[in-house]
Formats: sequence, structure tokens, C-alpha cells
Amino acid sequence: MQYSNIVQRVLELARQASEAPDSATRQLIEQDLRVFLKPLKAAEIYMLATLMYLGLEGGSVAGLMDRYQQMSDTFGTPERAINQMFTKRGLHKHLRNSLEILANAGVEVDTLLTTHIDSPLALLNSSDDVELSLGPWCCDQCGQVISKPEHGLLQWLTRSKDGHSAGRDLRIVHVNHASPLGLPDGCGPDQSKEFARDGSALSDVPLHWMLEPDGLVRLLAFVEEGEFPANEVNRIIMRLLVPGYETARPYFQKAIDAGIVDVELPNDYFFQSQLGDIVANISKLEK
Ligand SMILES: [Zn+2]
Repeated sequence: MQYSNIVQRVLELARQASEAPDSATRQLIEQDLRVFLKPLKAAEIYMLATLMYLGLEGGSVAGLMDRYQQMSDTFGTPERAINQMFTKRGLHKHLRNSLEILANAGVEVDTLLTTHIDSPLALLNSSDDVELSLGPWCCDQCGQVISKPEHGLLQWLTRSKDGHSAGRDLRIVHVNHASPLGLPDGCGPDQSKEFARDGSALSDVPLHWMLEPDGLVRLLAFVEEGEFPANEVNRIIMRLLVPGYETARPYFQKAIDAGIVDVELPNDYFFQSQLGDIVANISKLEK
């Protein structure tokens, strides 16, 4: 949605709330407004709060981006910024004032978040330009690229505990012949050392097999049998089977901090559009 449409919608709901005949009606409209605000990007929310303060306190458009920075630093989360907008009386009036200030300065609302000089999301690359793919993978041992599935393994250690299998160290690593480490065990563990530690034995399967339906079922069975915790297995599943995931993975936190993606799901879980936004902007995130 274009940012000007977002601002207009907020303005309209804020106007209705301000003209509500009684407090019960006003609360209902404010509830609608909260529902509308909730799925917006963090940057969109902070900019709304910025505009509200511009209208409330006055000032010039020149300081708008400093004010925006202040908003995102002060509130820290979009939820807090939203709460602040509701505690200040006169949201409608303040927003209308700030739109007037912007119009007088000749600033288009749609440029605020994207192309305005110093904008927080200025000149972001579009995810339309990237195609998300599976792999290449990053070896959990040596940190180097596993460029094709034939060069990789899913590897884990397993032992018997109270009549059940107990696993540890579920990892994606190079196969021996592709390991850049040049060690006898390649990127795998020292098996005699691991056995001495807790009786664990090494298991592995080729990465290309893990990319097939049977690979997924193998991983799901780990969870079913309690051999590995779900959160560990889920992350391996996403690394293996969710396009773009492994490429975007090193940049998750930076992308959140930069406002390129918002947190919608648990830690490390991202939809394809979010992974696309991260992958498209890796060159900026590396700076
Ligand atoms: Zn390796």
C-alpha cells in the first residue's frame, strides 16, 4: 500500500474517533485503527508517530528525519509508538497539521519512506529483482560455502538413552572430499572422541537426499521421536527447503535493525517476501 494511502486511512479513522458521539463509539473506532496499524512495517509506524509530533509541536520538514530517528530510538518497538499515538490527544488534528506542513514544503508523503533524502528505507532494492533459490549452504564446521548438494551432508550424533535415541549436533557440513580443511575427518567430528564422550555414534545422509520428500520425513521423525528438539529441526528444515533462507540467514538481525523486514513470526522465521527483501539488499547490509 502506498504510504499516502496509509496516512489517509489513519487520518480518516482518527477523524471519526475525534467526532464520535460517545466514548464507547470512540473506543470501537480506535480499536479499528489499532487493527489497521498492527500489520504495518515498523518504519511506517515510526513515520506516523513522527508526523504526529511534527503536527503537535510544529517545526520544519528539514528536521523530519532526525525526528524519525528519535522516534525509532525512543520507542524501540512499533507497539510502543502506536500506544504513544493513542495517549496523545488530537491525533487527527496533529496529523492534519503535519500534512499541511509537508504540502507547504512541497514534500510528497509517498517519498518520505523511500526516496526522500536521508529516508530510512531510501533506495532499497526491490525483491522483484531477485529469485530465491535453495542453497548454496554454509558449512556449520568450516563456515565455507557448500556450493552444490553433492558436496554436503546432514550429520548428527546419536546415542541410546533410557531406551530411546538421543541426538545432538545436527549440522550441515561438507562431505569429506569437498572439505576445505584437509583433515582426516574433513568437516566432521573426531568419532572416537565423540564416542568416548557419551557413547554417541556418527550418522549422516547426503544433502541431495535431504532435499527430497524422504529427507523432510526423516527430520519430522526426529521430532516425533523426541530425538531432537523441534526448534533445532525446524531451522534445519528451513535451511534445506525454504528458498532464500540460507542466503538471507546471516543477515536476519541486521535486516530487522535496518527496518528492511519486521518481526512477524518467531525468531528466524520469515516469509518469502521478507527473505526476498533481505536477499535483494545484502549489498547494503554488508556495509
Ligand atoms: Zn566445511
